Amino acid sequence: MSQRFDIIVLGAGMVGVSVAVHLQQRGRAVALVDRRPPGSETSMGNAGLIQREGVVPYGFPRDVRTLLRYASNTAPELRYHLRDLPALLPFLYAYWRNSSPRRHLRIAERYAPLIAHCLDEHRALATAAGALELLRPAGWMRVFRSPRAWQQGVAEAGDWQRRWGVAFEALDAAALQRAEPALRGHLAGAVRYSDAVPCSDPQALVQAYAAHFVQLGGTLLQGEASSLREGWTVDGAQGPLQAPDVVIALGPWAQPLTRRLGLRLPLAVKRGYHMHYASGEGPALSHPVLDAEVGYLLAPMRRGIRLTTGAELARLDAAPTPRQLEQVEPLARELASLGPRLDAQPWMGQRPCTPDMLPLLGRAPRQGGLWLAHGHAHHGFTLGPVSGRLLAELLCGQQPLLDPAPFDPARFA
Ligand SMILES: Cc1cc2nc3c(=O)[nH]c(=O)nc-3n(C[C@H](O)[C@H](O)[C@H](O)COP(=O)(O)OP(=O)(O)OC[C@H]3O[C@@H](n4cnc5c(N)ncnc54)[C@H](O)[C@@H]3O)c2cc1C
Repeated sequence: MSQRFDIIVLGAGMVGVSVAVHLQQRGRAVALVDRRPPGSETSMGNAGLIQREGVVPYGFPRDVRTLLRYASNTAPELRYHLRDLPALLPFLYAYWRNSSPRRHLRIAERYAPLIAHCLDEHRALATAAGALELLRPAGWMRVFRSPRAWQQGVAEAGDWQRRWGVAFEALDAAALQRAEPALRGHLAGAVRYSDAVPCSDPQALVQAYAAHFVQLGGTLLQGEASSLREGWTVDGAQGPLQAPDVVIALGPWAQPLTRRLGLRLPLAVKRGYHMHYASGEGPALSHPVLDAEVGYLLAPMRRGIRLTTGAELARLDAAPTPRQLEQVEPLARELASLGPRLDAQPWMGQRPCTPDMLPLLGRAPRQGGLWLAHGHAHHGFTLGPVSGRLLAELLCGQQPLLDPAPFDPARFA
């Protein structure tokens, strides 16, 4: 006998948990299914930034100097597995095309309204889940080593402020020293995104939202998403589960399943690594800090100072190669006082990316009752709650809080 629900949500990362809470809040009987406890994968190991400033999704560089630097495969912010490049070329070409100034601006205009809701939607869920103490209204910083890069960073933030209301402060070297005395070395200045909200324990936040889902009457189950078959049945650890609607929120692992269901979605992953460090001597780091011209981030977390790396292009199932971490660790130790490593191994996660930099949110083309909520790339932790709300509104036939058309999976059909 199978257990019946209104909706099965596959994947209990930030996105799937948020979808499940919003559906349950709307009176649906929801089963949230994952092979691991909630928030154990990408949503656990990220930099924990709720990026209100993230209105312009990360594009592919177009200037020849940067492209040559990337081609050398030694840049700390982007590396690739050479043997995987041929398979990635169609994705990379489409991503590169979408990164032309004209297309990128159009994409940002579609993306910015989604980002604009990220703080309100996180605060609403964190309040309901009793998890507000995990969010620190501290903002985060991009710090620059050269005056020219600092001026460019300030000009870019000013542009985002005028177009999309992004709040920021430009800090010169002296102001930066006062705002973040933990930083060392010759820094030209910083841009502080004052509205953005760092989270001190991303996994704990996902788990708090998942606990809230259960409090609302939702059912959290262990199960294997690859067992999904038409009639929307999936094998849970205690037996089969059935529902007329199913939501795929499997982050980077959505692609193998959607492909098996006949959907040709042009996705790829950008991998990233993290390592925790004990605080060294001197003042404690109080903001997450991106070393903008090198390409890594230091974020103070409950567990220690978390260093997250830039992007690595490789196949989903390729073995970890944490060279970027080795490369930037000495530079990070110059920037801030870091004690010993706290993790036995570097953690690796995979940012699930679409070539047009917009997530997939909505009904899958062709298959009835199949819904997609993945492809959030660098901003899935930021966008989980607003994406969850949008998808729940679409699935329940309610007025959506913003125009869902740019995120419609049918754009790739
Ligand atoms: C280094 C790094 C730093 C980042 N920093 C930030 C940041 O500061 N801010 C931000 O907004 N975003 C950040 N991101 C991106 C963000 O972490 C992701 O976009 C987001 O976590 C994706 O969430 P998700 O719920 O879609 O996927 P996931 O969190 O990966 O969840 C997918 C779930 O599916 C489950 N699953 C997979 N396969 C199966 C299966 N076969 N059966 C059952 N269950 C399965 C997994 O167990 C997992 O729980 C960062 C990413 C990386 C790698």
